[in-house]
Amino acid sequence: MRVVIVGGGILGSSLYLLLKEKGHDVLVLDSGERKFYPTLIHSTLLKGKDVELAKESLKLYRRWRVPTFGFPSYTLGLKDRSIVNQWSSEGLDVREVEFLGSSAILGVDTDRLVSVTSLRKVVPKVSVKAFVEVMGDLAKVRTDSREIVPDLVFLTAGAWNPYSTNVKLPSRSYYCWAYAVTTPSEVFDRVFVYDYELGFYSRPLFGLGMRTAIVGDGEYVVSDPFGKPSHSDRPLRNVEKRLGKVRPFFKGDGFCEGTKDLRPAIGRLADNAYWVGGLDGYGAEIGPALAEMALNFALKGEIDKEYSAERLTSLKDFEWNKEPHEL
Ligand SMILES: Cc1cc2nc3c(=O)[nH]c(=O)nc-3n(C[C@H](O)[C@H](O)[C@H](O)COP(=O)(O)OP(=O)(O)OC[C@H]3O[C@@H](n4cnc5c(N)ncnc54)[C@H](O)[C@@H]3O)c2cc1C
Repeated sequence: MRVVIVGGGILGSSLYLLLKEKGHDVLVLDSGERKFYPTLIHSTLLKGKDVELAKESLKLYRRWRVPTFGFPSYTLGLKDRSIVNQWSSEGLDVREVEFLGSSAILGVDTDRLVSVTSLRKVVPKVSVKAFVEVMGDLAKVRTDSREIVPDLVFLTAGAWNPYSTNVKLPSRSYYCWAYAVTTPSEVFDRVFVYDYELGFYSRPLFGLGMRTAIVGDGEYVVSDPFGKPSHSDRPLRNVEKRLGKVRPFFKGDGFCEGTKDLRPAIGRLADNAYWVGGLDGYGAEIGPALAEMALNFALKGEIDKEYSAERLTSLKDFEWNKEPHEL
C-alpha cells in the first residue's frame, strides 16, 4: 500500500516505523516548521487509559532502540489520591516518601527522558510543505510541485494540523515554554519534580548532576503556530519556593495542538485519510501508542472511543484551563 504521512514529528515518525514493519511503501513529508526536538519527558504517571498508552509507547521506543534516560520522580501536592491507587494497580512502583520537607509520591522507574531526535533521525523525510485536500470521499496531498492521491494519508502535522487541510478540525494550536535554569543543588539534574501544590514541574537538563534543570508551569497562549506570540514571562517564584534560588539562562518554546477537551484524537477525514493529533504537552509520552491505534483504525476500523475524534462533535467549545500534564 502507498502511504503518505504529512508531518514527521513524534506521531509521523512512529507511523512510519509501524507501517515499514508491515512492509508498506511510505513517504513522509515534513515542512521543517518545527525546528527543535530536545529530549522530552516520558512518564507513566498519567491518568486513566493514558497509562496503558504510555506503557505501550515505552515498549515501542525500546523496540525501535530509541534512547531513554530514567530518573526517579517526586510528585507533590497531589489532591486526587485515587490516582495513586491506579498507579499501584497498574504495577507501577510508587511509594510515599518525604522530599524537600513535604510528603511526596516517589516514582521508581516511572519517568524518563526520551531522545525524540533519535526517533526522527531514522525516518527518511522529504522537506516540503504539504496540504491534505479532501474532495468528497477522497483526499489528495498537494505540495507546490505535485499532487498525489495515495492509498492512505495520515495528517500528523501537530500544531500545524488545522492549517494543513481544508477540513475544519476540532483542535487549536497554542504556544508554551519552559526555562533552563541554574539550581542551588545538583539533585534537580537527576530527578523529576511534579509539584501540583505550587504549580510547576522540573526535569533534568543534562542528567549528569549539574546545578541545572528545566522548569515549566503549564502556562500557554492560544496562537497560530507561525509567529512568536508575546506573553509576560511568568515569574519563577513558585519554583523557587520549592527548589531554592533559580536563575533562568535559556527559554525553550514551541507550539502544541489541543482538542476541545485537551485529549488526543484520531479522526477520519476521507475514505483514504486520517488525522491524528491533539497531543498537547505529552506527545512523547503516548504518541507512539496513539500512532499504533490510528493505524489499527485505518487498517481494521478498530478504535477505542475515548480516543476517537467523534466524541468532540458533541462538545461546544474550547474551555481550557491548564495545559494537561504540565499541571
Ligand atoms: C516547549 C515544549 C516542551 C514540551 N515538552 C514535552 C515533554 O517533556 N514531554 C512530552 O511528552 N511532550 C512535550 N511537549 C509536547 C510534544 O512536543 C508534542 O506533544 C508532540 O511533539 C506532538 O507530536 P506530533 O507528532 O503531533 O507533532 P510534532 O511533533 O510537532 O510534529 C509535527 C511535524 O509536522 C511538520 N509540519 C507542520 N506543518 C506541515 C505541513 N504543512 N507539511 C508537512 N509537514 C508539516 C512539522 O515540521 C513537525 O515536524 C512539549 C512541547 C513544547 C512546545
